[in-house]
Amino acid sequence: MYETVVIGSGPAGLSAALYLKRAGKDVIVIEKEYEGAGQIARSIRVENYLGIQALSGEELGERFRQHVLSENIPILEDEVTDIIQKEIWLVYLSSGRKLETKTLIYAAGMVPGELGIPGEKAYQGKGISYCAYCDGSLYKGKDTAVIGGGDTALDDALYLSDLCRKVYLIHRRDEFRGNNATVELLKKRKNVEFILEASVKEVYGQRTLEEISLDDGRKISINGLFVAIGSFPVSDIIKSYVQTDENGYVTAGEDGITSSPGLFVAGDVRTKKLRQVITAVSDGANAAVSAIQYLKFDKKR
Ligand code: NAP
Repeated sequence: MYETVVIGSGPAGLSAALYLKRAGKDVIVIEKEYEGAGQIARSIRVENYLGIQALSGEELGERFRQHVLSENIPILEDEVTDIIQKEIWLVYLSSGRKLETKTLIYAAGMVPGELGIPGEKAYQGKGISYCAYCDGSLYKGKDTAVIGGGDTALDDALYLSDLCRKVYLIHRRDEFRGNNATVELLKKRKNVEFILEASVKEVYGQRTLEEISLDDGRKISINGLFVAIGSFPVSDIIKSYVQTDENGYVTAGEDGITSSPGLFVAGDVRTKKLRQVITAVSDGANAAVSAIQYLKFDKKR
């Protein structure tokens, strides 16, 4: 039996695991698939993490991971299919394994939003991507479009403009939600074209994506479509044990304590204002300390 199972290997989960291991706890991290420390791998450049002037999200994530591995903390690649609360917690995995644990730190983060338009599913991985930094190099010298008006879409467009022949930035409003300085940089790029007050209606192609149609009737030929319309919390699997807000974020304070004893949350999945690497790392540490205190109490029982 583990003292803590950490679900999620992003900055929050890895930080929690490090604190637990250093407190002498028997801890394991479960990750659905190795993606380079979660959503952080999608960031082209992280420049606001104290002590790191500028590093790609992928490199920063890899440093987090190596730090955890150097402490001999196991990271198991498997998918959590169910979580059951008995006297202890049971964690069921898609491999058929069942883990028993006294505490759980749930740090499964968020997944990128989908457009929900006809053809989207069929072209996923065949021209439609949700991570420019991961897949951008596949579209070197080709024509692409980015959908969204937040910082992710702006950063994606900037990154792709260095690689692609043409980048269309398609946003449903005439004002961007993201950083104005990036908008100004994009305006200076000759291969970037803004398409505002428009939405993608449908996608077409033979075996891979070739064309998109917009709600204003226009059709645009592209090879790659990068969807950057925000992300959503992965909280379904613990919903019966916790309270969530209207958007699915798990209601918990900085200490990660939920309405279920022994179940703690950390990182983007928690209700909070600022979802960044630094707050995820902080959440992980706080949730670990909460779990350590809970385990102390558990021993006295
Ligand atoms: P976001 O800020 O929520 O922006 C999502 C964008 O997608 C919005 O412009 C939204 O349009 C649009 N959108 C949503 N649903 C859509 C749909 N169905 N069809 C078309 N467009 C749709 O998400 P994000 O850009 O991923 O950023 C998330 C957070 O991470 C933000 O706080 C951001 O500042 C931060 N972040 C920071 C950096 C950085 O500092 N470099 C980089 C990436 C992300 P509306 O504007 O009309 O709502």
